[in-house]
Amino acid sequence: MKDEGRSLNFIEHIIEDDLLAGFPKSSLRFRFPPEPNGYLHIGHASSICLNFGLGERYGAPVNLRFDDTNPAKEEKEFVEAIKKDVAWLGYHWDSECYASDYFQQLYDWAVMLIRQGKAYVDSQTSEQMAEQKGTPTEPGTNSPFRNRNVAENLALFEAMKQGEFAEGTHVLRAKIDMAASNMLMRDPIMYRILHRPHHRTNTDWCIYPMYDWTHGESDYIEQVTHSLCTLEFAPHRELYDWFLDQVVTEGRIRPKQREFARRNLSHTIVSKRKLLHLVEQGVVNGWDDPRMPTISGLRRRGFTPESIRNFADTIGIAKRENVVDVSLLEFHIREHLNKIAPRVMAVLDPVKLVITNYPEGEEEWLEAENNPEDPGAGNRQVPFSGTLYIEREDFREEANRKFFRLKLGGEVRLKNGYIIKAVSCSKDTDGNITEIQCTYDPKSKSGSGSEESLRKVKGTLHWVSVPHALKAEVRLYDRLFNDETPDGHKGRDFMEFINPDSLQQLEGYIEPSLKDAQAGQGFQFQRLGYFNVDKDSTADRLVFNRTVTLRDTWAKIEQRR
Ligand code: ATP
Ligand code: MG
Repeated sequence: MKDEGRSLNFIEHIIEDDLLAGFPKSSLRFRFPPEPNGYLHIGHASSICLNFGLGERYGAPVNLRFDDTNPAKEEKEFVEAIKKDVAWLGYHWDSECYASDYFQQLYDWAVMLIRQGKAYVDSQTSEQMAEQKGTPTEPGTNSPFRNRNVAENLALFEAMKQGEFAEGTHVLRAKIDMAASNMLMRDPIMYRILHRPHHRTNTDWCIYPMYDWTHGESDYIEQVTHSLCTLEFAPHRELYDWFLDQVVTEGRIRPKQREFARRNLSHTIVSKRKLLHLVEQGVVNGWDDPRMPTISGLRRRGFTPESIRNFADTIGIAKRENVVDVSLLEFHIREHLNKIAPRVMAVLDPVKLVITNYPEGEEEWLEAENNPEDPGAGNRQVPFSGTLYIEREDFREEANRKFFRLKLGGEVRLKNGYIIKAVSCSKDTDGNITEIQCTYDPKSKSGSGSEESLRKVKGTLHWVSVPHALKAEVRLYDRLFNDETPDGHKGRDFMEFINPDSLQQLEGYIEPSLKDAQAGQGFQFQRLGYFNVDKDSTADRLVFNRTVTLRDTWAKIEQRR
């Protein structure tokens, strides 16, 4: 197993204790339970890796359960996107389950509770019910409908189901205790009326079960043993157990809810509702915008499943909430791409360089290594000529000794090519450099084995040959928010912290070997960063997303290397 040797997390300790107490390992079962009301984000990746990771560790099945009880917000598009993302992360679910498949069973159990005097139809407004809720220190007040008789409750509940009432006129409530210290136990709502078609059950139902009533019972139906959720559900555990008490029968497994801390990532937000807002407001171009912390956004940006899994494994799970710096995620993608990404040359801010002693009209194809980290990656041929583009910032007329790039009178090596020396440069009327004139040393060709080829010069520059280069659109991304915790400021809206400069689009030149690159392929543009072909690419114009720069500017991570 990949993580052998790592110490157990607290959820694994709970499971180990259960196994020690005699619980059969072969009965373990987990689930990942997204609500299909948006796209999965990096926070969900933690939950996915936790649940499916447990499945791998214990050889236990893991269900993908759609918690689809709110037709007002849920759509098939989201179901499909979630399945795609979980599969892309590399996990296989045992069963694809839907809470909506249990609507009839849940209804039958609700009828059973009514018959037992444990549930009643309340016909007050939501405002009235809220007023009776009490406070954490004061008990609530019983509803005037609390003592409706069973026959009346059954008739009303049936009529609710038959669509005879308008939304908001009646609800079904569990009859627990209006004085309970846990306010969630004060006669919680089990069903509400919603005249909305559901993406799976269409108009079969117009009453929909609430989360608390649905979740534990769904776990029970599926015989999930450990139902892991985030900390905000800790106070719900008592209710989860109460609802289970009503239905659990001898010989069947009783699921157990346990909570872990939500994972937050710095400089972004992990809430489907807020991400939806960014999409709807046009701050980003859809759920898979490469700036989004969604799984689909990260994929489009060029992240690999391995990098996300390694990130989730590294941060592990915790009992307390905290914010994980986004640099840690970037560290993991950099590590993975360093191993697998082919190296190519691209110039993003070009200035022309002419080699005055290179034979006019000639070209040659230079041998270039695809990936020095991967001996199996082989070589390719890169065209060279007397007219090149280099990065504008790689040349200065004058510079001090610490500038290891090209300056007048100075030498550099052209990657995979020759040593050149800058002789002069031309400028436009504004003083901008328009062309650099150089000479080259024909004997200094890399890999030729000559004495000159082994001569050391301080700088090596990347370049592309002007007559061979392809134009490409390149999209550079910065953090979507200027603040570390955009939704962590009381009284301030996360939208206030949007970084207006999170996207920079430019036109660059790339070597011709990239001509047939396909959407989703990743490369290292040497000395610049990792880039991924975007789905907006066409046959004659490639579009690249910068996945991440080569170096981390975040000091702490640097120290860890
Ligand atoms: P959101 O607020 O983004 O909609 P959610 O918790 O409502 O999140 P669900 O679709 O209900 O989203 O979540 C599916 C599972 O993923 C749940 O078990 C939930 O606890 C877990 N989860 C959601 N967000 C995070 C997060 N940031 N860190 C860890 N687990 C998460
Ligand atoms: Mg939710």
